[in-house]
Amino acid sequence: MTATATGNGTATESIMNSPKFKELGLPTDPNNLYTITIERILNAADIMGLPEYVKLIIAQPKNEIMVHFPVKMRDGSVEVFKGYRVQHNNSLGPYKGGIRFHPEVSLDDIKSLAALMTMKCSLAHVPLGGAKGGIKCDPRKFNTDELRRITRRFTFAISNQIGPEYDIPAPDVGTNAQIMAWIADTYQQMNPEHNRQDTIRVVTGKPVEFGGSLGRDKATGQGLVYVLQELLPEMGINISDMKFSLIGFGNVGSWTGRLLHDLGATMVAVMDHTGAIYHDHGIDPVALTQHCMVRGGVGEYPEADAITEDEFYSTKVDVLVPAALEQMITPEKAKLINCKVVAEGANAPTTPAGERILSEKGIEIAPAILCNSGGVTVSYFEWVQNKTSNYWTADRVDQDLRTHMSEAANRVRLAKHRMNLDWRTASYVAALEQVAHVYELRGIFP
Ligand code: NAD
Repeated sequence: MTATATGNGTATESIMNSPKFKELGLPTDPNNLYTITIERILNAADIMGLPEYVKLIIAQPKNEIMVHFPVKMRDGSVEVFKGYRVQHNNSLGPYKGGIRFHPEVSLDDIKSLAALMTMKCSLAHVPLGGAKGGIKCDPRKFNTDELRRITRRFTFAISNQIGPEYDIPAPDVGTNAQIMAWIADTYQQMNPEHNRQDTIRVVTGKPVEFGGSLGRDKATGQGLVYVLQELLPEMGINISDMKFSLIGFGNVGSWTGRLLHDLGATMVAVMDHTGAIYHDHGIDPVALTQHCMVRGGVGEYPEADAITEDEFYSTKVDVLVPAALEQMITPEKAKLINCKVVAEGANAPTTPAGERILSEKGIEIAPAILCNSGGVTVSYFEWVQNKTSNYWTADRVDQDLRTHMSEAANRVRLAKHRMNLDWRTASYVAALEQVAHVYELRGIFP
């Protein structure tokens, strides 16, 4: 029997109910993503016996910034947007985390994603802290000019809160390298007294021609594939003849699909916001990517059959990779899922109740803070390259990424076996080891 963050939650319930934690005023709704995330992290902290002050620090972001800003739209009207930047923890280095443009962006979700970034950076041993940001908007509704004005005005609104040595955004759902270029340019214009070359370090995930790193675009998918190469053999799966399915075919999903396909695996089913598709003999990820660029999603892809959402979840595969949004694997979906391993490309894709069902069915979960930490790792490489003006080859990026991912997977494996934990709890334990050790070394100022 392994200890689990979601098994009965007894240890965590006692922490969250203690008077000091109650004073923090954490959300009480058990379905709130921040509650779910912090409970899982604190449960691991409790299993490790971390001091209460470390748990209290980690339970709350250091800064929660909310801004409202007006933007002129193409029809001459003015729309007021709500934006967020949450800085969870910077004990290991400058705050780091993506910027999301999505209609469902909310403060508690951004807080949760910021906390996960702290865990991810610590686990991958990159000297960065955790942050996340976003704008509550649907980017698909805007033309390029509107998107540029929204991005620049948001950057202006948070410009005093970010910086190359302080807080470094990156792409996430609904944002991309172009949007990072606009952020970098706006920040440069607002800081003319600083070296122009240096100020572009304020964001990563930039276009390669504008200070980006080779390999950043595919980094999250590549990192996930390196983790699978580490973990799948001990789960009895051979990548070169496995079948897999993907939820989401954006940056993370499409790269994961292409890279696994290159290793001989067969992509039999894909689902995104436009529909779900299936082909027993495999779907060509490159052709599907081209289709998505023209049609905006996988729906109506002519070389595969359209299937329902339930049929997608029931499809028998070795590995299911959720690479879309949070909390999609609910108990209802978990009951349908027919795979050996869920490899979490997205952040927090599995609800605690969904996870319990997967675990009862004997399905292993390769957790998000391990599987998707390749993105922030290559972001760190980009930041180092900008700082040193020494640009790496694609091979060097890949080699260093593989080393970081293999070592992170190994740290999780060691924690799992040493403490008899499930993979998720083990990943939090491995991540917390470094953060907790730094607090122990630094002490509390003054
Ligand atoms: P993206 O915007 O490029 O792609 C998102 C995908 O999700 C799209 O294919 C979209 O169709 C799909 N999707 C949206 N709503 C859906 C729904 N209801 N059902 C099915 N599919 C749906 O985003 P991304 O950058 O690939 O990020 C995906 C996930 O990975 C997010 O959780 C993100 O936080 C996480 N992540 C991304 C990176 C990165 O480097 N991009 C790094 C770490 C983690």
